[in-house]
Amino acid sequence: MSFVLEHLQNNLWSGKFTHFPTDIMVHGISARLGGVSSKPYDALNMGLHVGDDKEAVLENRRRYLNALEIKAEDVCSPQQVHGTKVLRVTVGDRGKGALDYESAIAETDALITNALGVPLMLCFADCVPLLFLDPEKGAIGLAHAGWKGTVARIGVKTVEAMAKNFGTDPGKLLVGIGPSIGVECFDIGEEVARKFREAFPAYHDKILSRQEGKDHADLWAANRLQLIEAGVAAENVQCADTCTSCQHKWYFSYRADGGETGRLAAVMMLKKY
Ligand SMILES: [Zn+2]
Repeated sequence: MSFVLEHLQNNLWSGKFTHFPTDIMVHGISARLGGVSSKPYDALNMGLHVGDDKEAVLENRRRYLNALEIKAEDVCSPQQVHGTKVLRVTVGDRGKGALDYESAIAETDALITNALGVPLMLCFADCVPLLFLDPEKGAIGLAHAGWKGTVARIGVKTVEAMAKNFGTDPGKLLVGIGPSIGVECFDIGEEVARKFREAFPAYHDKILSRQEGKDHADLWAANRLQLIEAGVAAENVQCADTCTSCQHKWYFSYRADGGETGRLAAVMMLKKY
């Protein structure tokens, strides 16, 4: 079992990867239960940018982050745009995007840091959360990989940024591929299929498949294979194997919920000693 969904308290649940050591890092992926948001954002919507009541989102964040023993006002969050910008954050960035969307870091889809006590948080509903821990250098990374980010190799760009900034050896990295849309539920148009073929000439056959006359893309495989190609050890990459669309009672799913829905959060923080 590489990924488990644990009950924290008061119907708050949190997903975690069992290969991440808990002594140096706190991490979690929120589910949708135990929050205060109304439909269609019910209940633990963590995203401030989706049209939900702001106070409800801030209460949800307080509940979930407090249960992880993280201060909600400390989280560092970007305005995600399906791009490939990776930004290194420091203690001075703590709290950006924590209490309002306007103060969030602009146009960024991955954050990296080696600062202790700076929680990184990104929001998702079907897109792939990529979590990176370098236990050797004491550094973390968190990336948002929708199909566009996956094709543009945001995961590899995050690894490269960690190598450049922290001296990370890709072979030592531990990676988690979080709950997101699975291949069975992710049918795509011809144009998108072509982009996958062009981006991954060596292994697109392991990513694309035909099901009931439609092209499907396996975002988990596409991210795993590009990371292995970049030097990450296959045995260090754990996939949650959890489809947000199939399990939309537990997780927010853009597709299964018809477009208007909440966001789950992936959170990582290096612990202070
Ligand atoms: Zn599914």
